Amino acid sequence: TLTDRLSLLVKTMRGQARITESNVQDMLREVRMALLEADVALPVVRDFIARVKEKALGAEVVGSLSPGQALVGIVHKELAATMGEGVSDINLAAQPPAVILMAGLQGAGKTTTTAKLTKHLIEKRKKKVLTVSADVYRPAAIEQLKTVTAQAGGEWFASSPDQKPREIALAALDYAKKHYFDVLLVDTAGRLAIDEALMAEIKELHATLNPVETLFVVDAMQGQDAINTARAFKEALPLTGVILTKLDGDSRGGAALSVRQVTGAPIKFAGVSEKIDGLEVFDGERHAGRVLGMGDIVALVEEVSKGVDLAAAEKLAGKLKSGSGFDLNDFLAQISSMKKMGGLSSLMDKLPTQMAAKAGQADMDRAERDMKRMEGILNAMTAKERRQPALLMDGKSKASRKRRIAAGAGVQIQDVNRLLNQFDQMQGMMKKMSGGGLMKMMKKMGG
Ligand code: GDP
Ligand code: MG
Repeated sequence: TLTDRLSLLVKTMRGQARITESNVQDMLREVRMALLEADVALPVVRDFIARVKEKALGAEVVGSLSPGQALVGIVHKELAATMGEGVSDINLAAQPPAVILMAGLQGAGKTTTTAKLTKHLIEKRKKKVLTVSADVYRPAAIEQLKTVTAQAGGEWFASSPDQKPREIALAALDYAKKHYFDVLLVDTAGRLAIDEALMAEIKELHATLNPVETLFVVDAMQGQDAINTARAFKEALPLTGVILTKLDGDSRGGAALSVRQVTGAPIKFAGVSEKIDGLEVFDGERHAGRVLGMGDIVALVEEVSKGVDLAAAEKLAGKLKSGSGFDLNDFLAQISSMKKMGGLSSLMDKLPTQMAAKAGQADMDRAERDMKRMEGILNAMTAKERRQPALLMDGKSKASRKRRIAAGAGVQIQDVNRLLNQFDQMQGMMKKMSGGGLMKMMKKMGG
């Protein structure tokens, strides 16, 4: 996978203080492959790589990051920036009714998305919404819009295949004005491929309606072809936004990058299911991770390096080397450092979904509860007991000490015993591991 390949390179680039022409080449080759695999169109990939290279060359590598890690950071940031930082809702700043024109190929998801937006505008923006279909080629399309608009709780304006799209638009606009609708959503016909007649028709609709939003609806599964479709619609219409549908499919969503670059319009929403509530605000940063195929691994790396206290790790390694041993204070410090990182489930959230799915939420919940309980027990011990665990394991007064600790932490004696067993095992492991080995492990986590 890309992540494996990248981490290998990250390792080989360690120890070099700067990103240079020579060490950046291999890395960028991997990024280029990943983008192509994610179906980003070739010219868009080329542009992107050129931009990243320019930003990366000579960039100082800060702190404990290796140049490889720094480059992943630059790639991720640039990807998120290209995809659009921040989020933008539907613009309704117009004399009501604010008209929204839906454009895109047949099957892209225009009708479905019209209904999803209707629901969004009613529920989140408290608007009175009317929909109308100008798809006069397929009578079933008009019926489809009627059905889904009802599901969304909006009102549908009847049109018929005998009318011209322009007539329908004018009639619906007139009705919307007379009945004080805030928003009129106009669903349109699509063809299977780009077609002159279709483009002429939608241009005419645009001129008639003067919409405040002209949304280009595009199927994420379209992959490489999305760039051509986007170009054609961009030439015909002043697009104000993009909606990327079918992101619930298994495409890596590279179309987002191509479409965004070609149209220059913000990607406002993403379709994530066939259902009426399957619409999400598009988040460029999150999507960048998906396109790169890294989940939010970048965020994970950042967070881990924040949480792991390298100074404490070195102290611990020093202790092991000098033979003074791993005590319960170190155990407590480890648990606190996990907590600093936001706990186990917050870390799991950042892993690629496949990895996280394997762990299962129930396991995570249990592990977090255990961690809290262990912390409580450790805190109920005296500093001396934590420094000299032997007092609790084979000291004369170990039974009364354990009773006191259990009562203090509000747990059973068995819980205290279990913790001591775990500590014992861990101590054994630590003894086997050389100090250098442990440092390596911590460095790997922390960068
Ligand atoms: P139109 O021809 O552009 O109006 O496309 P439709 O709205 O009729 O949608 C075409 C097909 O795509 C239908 O089967 C929809 O249920 C499906 N669809 C639309 N949006 C999504 C989405 O976000 N996810 C999934 N899985 N299916 C979608
Ligand atoms: Mg349709």
